[in-house]
Amino acid sequence: MNIVLMGLPGAGKGTQADKIVEKYEIPHISTGDMFRAAIQEGTELGVKAKSFMDQGALVPDEVTIGIVRERLSKSDCDNGFLLDGFPRTVPQAEALDALLADMGKKIEHVLNIKVEKDELIARLTGRRICKVCGTSYHLQFNPPKVEGICDKDGGELYQRADDNPETVTNRLEVNMNQTAPLLAFYNAKGVLTDIDGQKDINEVFKDLDAILTESGQ
Ligand code: ADP
Ligand code: ADP
Repeated sequence: MNIVLMGLPGAGKGTQADKIVEKYEIPHISTGDMFRAAIQEGTELGVKAKSFMDQGALVPDEVTIGIVRERLSKSDCDNGFLLDGFPRTVPQAEALDALLADMGKKIEHVLNIKVEKDELIARLTGRRICKVCGTSYHLQFNPPKVEGICDKDGGELYQRADDNPETVTNRLEVNMNQTAPLLAFYNAKGVLTDIDGQKDINEVFKDLDAILTESGQ
């Protein structure tokens, strides 16, 4: 099962990805998580990505495609994978198709989680992330049991540097401009499904899961 999860920043991709990979036992490949890990480790990739991420801009395609190529070649992707936050541009989607074709694979599902702009801003500015496992919480919409602490591993919660109101506005604009042609690209291939992301977290998961289960039968 080779899946792409799409949606603007704050749509709930990371939240739903955690649930999907748990049920289907496939790796969760998040380019944003990979860039944040590289920044934390101070690698060359991290240095390259940081200036773009701090502004809410996209990291250049060649850098992003390179890390995805390397990741998809690992053996844990043999039975499927879930891409979260990649592709975000048509050149990335074309590069993904080409590299999967070389491996005799293709994308079977593109699940597009749709949420209104005002809700996205509220979700992003109230988001808190576990330092240890990366799980997303929200101050109002999805609070942890104990304030500031991850339910899963007791890790400390922090606010991402790019979840401040100015960067959020720029990220939404940048991503909105890229999204329409990308949706058209996947729609033309007949693999795109829109999902109403305004519902509560478990309802959204039910809808996503129904699409995946249906196709597996
Ligand atoms: P993305 O990975 O698409 O940027 P996240 O999964 O990190 O999004 O979710 C963004 C924020 O919105 C987080 O604070 C998360 O707890 C919250 N959230 C996710 N899904 C929902 C939902 N269905 N309803 C309300 N809040 C949500
Ligand atoms: P969100 O969906 O909440 O914006 P991500 O964690 O997916 O968060 O991405 C954070 C940042 O990482 C983006 O603003 C961008 O700078 C960079 N990034 C992630 N994925 C990509 C991608 N596919 N192409 C270019 N830049 C990316």
